[in-house]
Amino acid sequence: MFLKDINYNEPVFRPPGEARSAILQATLGCSWNKCAFCEMYSSKKFKSRSFDVLKSEIETLAKSYKGVKKIFLADGNAFVLSANKLIPILNEINNKFGRLQRVSSYALPKDILIKSDSELKQLRELGLKLLYIGIETGDDELLKKINKGETFNSTVDGVLKAHNAGIDTSIMIINGLGGKKYSRQHALKSSEIINKVNPKFLSTLTLSLPYGEDHYQEKFNGEYKQQSIVALFEELKIFIENLNVENVIYRSDHISNNLILKGTLSKDKDELVRLLNSAIENTSKDKFPSAPGIL
Ligand code: SF4
Repeated sequence: MFLKDINYNEPVFRPPGEARSAILQATLGCSWNKCAFCEMYSSKKFKSRSFDVLKSEIETLAKSYKGVKKIFLADGNAFVLSANKLIPILNEINNKFGRLQRVSSYALPKDILIKSDSELKQLRELGLKLLYIGIETGDDELLKKINKGETFNSTVDGVLKAHNAGIDTSIMIINGLGGKKYSRQHALKSSEIINKVNPKFLSTLTLSLPYGEDHYQEKFNGEYKQQSIVALFEELKIFIENLNVENVIYRSDHISNNLILKGTLSKDKDELVRLLNSAIENTSKDKFPSAPGIL
């Protein structure tokens, strides 16, 4: 949702699940901004925005979006803000909007780990109920290569700390992230990490290279070899086959995906694997994904 009365600092990204949410840019850009595959915020220098500006935008949003149920705090990882900064923003949102279903934002595991348990609980009580976390892979070797700034263990610790405070998570994994060489370990370690954290939502996106393969190669030490669509399906199949989770709502319906998959895991695992087997059989082995525009 975009409003002409709000002077958004473009580009603005939000998860598909926030299509009906009012968007408040609590921060601009991404405080990390170093992941090898990501160009989302390369045009922006990270900064937090002043509370006075946010207060006035919250008032404008509340007037224009009467009855809105959800607020998404942009940009890349608004949850990097300290609890001291987030609490007044949430209070102001609650004052102006009244009853909301939830407030959410993107977060990195380190953004969760720097907050105390009681701060996280307080944020949850004020309505911050969901964090979107692009963990991308559970494989430490690949996390290092893509310069994620997180490890398997830091990710598990961050996600579980949020869960312990009652904050749900929506986790993203990138199909094809490591190319041919790292495909199997990426799939297996990614299912292992998801099994450990059992998020409320899980989605898989497919690696997109908006600036082309050469650009990624430079940052990937030349080791990246693009996978065919069939190889991407096979990687996804290994990932799903090895998941052992309860009541995880799974979606693979991003613009970057070559096959739409939806289900609840592990209940729908057999059906998802059947769909993948069928797609593997019916897709030419020589077919490679075209380069979609954005992640
Ligand atoms: S993937 Fe997320 S954490 Fe990494 S640079 Fe992009 S927005 Fe920042």
